[in-house]
Amino acid sequence: MEMCQAYWDKEVEGKEFYDFKGNRLDADQIEEARVDTLRWLNGYIAKVKSGEVPFIEFATPPEQDVSAPVEGTVFTARGYVDFFPSKVTSMETGEVLMDCKDDYMHIGDFKTGSKKFNAWNQAKADIDLQPTVYGYIMGKKPVAFHYVVIEKTASHEKPSIKHIITYRGKEDYDKFERLVLDFQESTDRANQYENGKFYPEPVMGFGRFCSKLCSFKDMCWKKNFDRGDVRGE
Ligand code: SF4
Repeated sequence: MEMCQAYWDKEVEGKEFYDFKGNRLDADQIEEARVDTLRWLNGYIAKVKSGEVPFIEFATPPEQDVSAPVEGTVFTARGYVDFFPSKVTSMETGEVLMDCKDDYMHIGDFKTGSKKFNAWNQAKADIDLQPTVYGYIMGKKPVAFHYVVIEKTASHEKPSIKHIITYRGKEDYDKFERLVLDFQESTDRANQYENGKFYPEPVMGFGRFCSKLCSFKDMCWKKNFDRGDVRGE
């Protein structure tokens, strides 16, 4: 926990923080976030020690910034790998649950997420693009991608941790290249976006228009979706 506190201090120093609506957080709100974060981490450590959640050993130094060109396109894919699992054990019994010495490269990622809204589960992991991109930048090898999800619980609730594994391989990497090529062509990226076509793809969040991080929400709503009094008949 001391390491976590030191890491927090280093990362927060001299920075500003904003909520998803773009409001700047004040000192009290940042302190509240610190207390919540340490509580969630504490819950994770307690569950690992008790054997309720697997203990994942890391193979190589964690936190690696990796990138690779996307073949057939002008783009580079980039990711920040949190850790490379070398063994998954139960800390309580010492039982090896997964030795990670198989045909897959094992990559791990820590997530925090809501327990109630759009919570992490196997299907969410299986359709997520991140494992595909990370497998791609690590050399397009078959990948076993480990999510360690620390759900944001309130102080009166029990900690909630999930360990979800999803797999990716050649077919996924081929699809990823096609996806990036489609994007390159529809945006006319190779021609500096000169004849690019851009379509809004909003996602509703908490009953509000578009939950994506974007500075153009008002403009996007007015230009593309605001129907005024027109009934669209
Ligand atoms: S609000 Fe922004 S992110 Fe959402 S659809 Fe419009 S342009 Fe895209």
